[in-house]
Amino acid sequence: MLVEEKKDALKLKMKEVFGFSQFRGNQEPIIRNILEGKNTFVIMPTGAGKSLCYQLPALVSEGLAVVISPLIALMKNQVDQMQAFGINAHFLNSTLSKAESTRVKNQCREGLTKLLYVAPESLTKQENIDFLKSIKISFVAVDEAHCISEWGHDFRPEYRRIKDIIGHLGNMPIIALTATATPKVQLDIQKNLQMENADVFISSFNRTNLYYEVQEKVHAKKKLIKFLHDNNHKSGIIYCLSRKKVEEIAELLKVNGFSAAPYHAGLDSSIREKNQDDFLNEEVDIIVATIAFGMGIDKPDVRFVIHYDVPKSLEGYYQETGRAGRDGLEGHCLMFYSHNDILKLEKFNKDKSVQERENGRILLQEMAYYAESPVCRRRQLLHYFGEEYDRKNCEGCDNCVHPRERFEGQTAVAKVIEAVQATDERFDLKHLVHLIRGTEDQYISSYGHDQLDIYGSGKDETKEYWRSVIRQSLMYEFLKKDIENVGVLKVSDKGRKFLKNPHSVMLAGDHTYETNPAEEEEGDRPPVNAKAYDSELFQLLKNLRKKVAHQKDLPPYVIFQDPSLEEMATTYPTTEAELAQINGVGMGKVKKFGKPFLEAIDKYVEDNDIVTASEVVVKSSVNKSKIKIFIIQQVDRKVDLDEIAETQNISFEELLDEIENICYSGTKLNLDYYIDDILDIDKQDDIIEYFLNSETDSIETALDDEDNEDYSEEELRLMRIKFLSEYAN
Ligand code: ADP
Ligand code: ZN
Repeated sequence: MLVEEKKDALKLKMKEVFGFSQFRGNQEPIIRNILEGKNTFVIMPTGAGKSLCYQLPALVSEGLAVVISPLIALMKNQVDQMQAFGINAHFLNSTLSKAESTRVKNQCREGLTKLLYVAPESLTKQENIDFLKSIKISFVAVDEAHCISEWGHDFRPEYRRIKDIIGHLGNMPIIALTATATPKVQLDIQKNLQMENADVFISSFNRTNLYYEVQEKVHAKKKLIKFLHDNNHKSGIIYCLSRKKVEEIAELLKVNGFSAAPYHAGLDSSIREKNQDDFLNEEVDIIVATIAFGMGIDKPDVRFVIHYDVPKSLEGYYQETGRAGRDGLEGHCLMFYSHNDILKLEKFNKDKSVQERENGRILLQEMAYYAESPVCRRRQLLHYFGEEYDRKNCEGCDNCVHPRERFEGQTAVAKVIEAVQATDERFDLKHLVHLIRGTEDQYISSYGHDQLDIYGSGKDETKEYWRSVIRQSLMYEFLKKDIENVGVLKVSDKGRKFLKNPHSVMLAGDHTYETNPAEEEEGDRPPVNAKAYDSELFQLLKNLRKKVAHQKDLPPYVIFQDPSLEEMATTYPTTEAELAQINGVGMGKVKKFGKPFLEAIDKYVEDNDIVTASEVVVKSSVNKSKIKIFIIQQVDRKVDLDEIAETQNISFEELLDEIENICYSGTKLNLDYYIDDILDIDKQDDIIEYFLNSETDSIETALDDEDNEDYSEEELRLMRIKFLSEYAN
């Protein structure tokens, strides 16, 4: 009876202050627990409603609730929100002036303040400790509690002193809250706060409406543009690792006609705010950001989150992907994975302390395993946070929707479990792989493991195979991680049962991703040598070029050069605009020679049922450099070439290089005013005649030809430009 009344009282208060009629998930038992004076540990995914778990009890308790939070930047915001609900809340951190913090303290002393947000570093100041000792505190809430653990992804050393300090304030219950904690981090938090006895409330981390996908980071720009075309006008976030990459990708998207804005800490704060607001107000569809973006952002209809670069940890990945589909509707989480990114991130850690570096490496390794694993992504993520997911097919991740080929893994799993048992459950994955494959190393021999029966019994399979089997055994819970000793693997109850009663276990091979940095970012130009193009179409276009060249009585290279044909055979342009996007093809060339080529490609695409990649044509974001534009303008005004070189502070030869580049990318340049001064018309005709009949436009070949012995390299180069401008562009 009494309990019922209390229950109603709480609910009424929630309705009255916050306007919510129902508790969500575990909120009610959590709130009740802290109100009963018990230590409480809350693990709840972002957006599930953690704040209410300390805000509501603060209101109904006698005294002041102290909330320790590392997010100084968000404190003002949180307090403003509280005050908007009519709750008397304040904050204490280093952004306050002396007078302001005195005022806050006085208000707390008067006993009207219910919630005080404090930064951990402010807690270390003696004057603040004295102040807190002088007032009645109802309980302490430690928000973002994972910051306590150096095994987490956001370790704050000040956080480790919290228990010490609040210990001096008297005996009061603690509620620790976090949205991200692996079992290891959970244990660390509880130990550090001396609340091993706390009641733990873990909410499910499963975000059923999110689709998880990992793609190989090859031609990533092209894949990105393709994805965005397929998801046009939807709201989304693209995370990049560096400010530079953010700028580059935002620019790329704009050039390709998407509504996008950048966000990173290096931008002027007014621009940053504007871009953020534009995104929230749907003025722009896509925000391209570093991980600085998103903290405290609560846009419900984010339809996709893309990790263009690999994140530093699965915790970070889960948090960031968690910003998709807050409204419960579709949310697509796509990550581009490359092992190079892992190596880059490892390099970032190199100046850190040995311990931090080692922790960073372990987090990155988990990230790599996640990407490579054939196991359901959802199962992996939940497993990582200590939650078991049993369904065979989640229907919401690439590994479930497009499963990899499976093989019977019964004997392999049994062998792995035996290996762990035979070595007394004290070793890590690497050691176990060496043991099973019979690889000699100093540890194997010093422990005498080369004497075990199992030693070398799996030598017919590669180390990648065994690594994958061990990781899958972990994922399917035949093995478990030793929480106390990082890396050490133990046999679970399920594993022991399996050995007694073996049964079929289907495993799959890992994903293998290429590591070719040159290809990762390709988008605007097909990679040289990669032979990614359609060789049949390429041959067809080459034959066509021969025919056209013959008709026009020009050498084939004047029409289109080979790299341009290769690109056409990669992107299948079928309109003039698309064709003009090909490197080495300007609109001039399109008008002059394009028609038969477009017709041929169109027919080919039709005949072969090719989905044209017109939508995947990635327009290059690199604008013509300033110098190129300057040269084009100056040549238009017939300015002496020597003078142009001089004003640009480059040699004449460098100027010629630039002009050739301009010319080869399809722009017509009329240099007659200059050439007519240095070569008489007969000589010019002579050289044009040579190029018309030559197999190649190589200057070396031209210089070697005895017909040209009277001409200098410079003259030949100038004439080649004239020739290409007249005949090719
Ligand atoms: P977290 O801190 O866990 O990320 P918040 O505390 O910011 O989540 O809450 C997320 C959203 O859910 C907020 O908009 C909050 O107002 C809302 N919310 C919290 N509890 C409830 C409830 N019981 N009923 C309805 N909405 C709620
Ligand atoms: Zn799945």
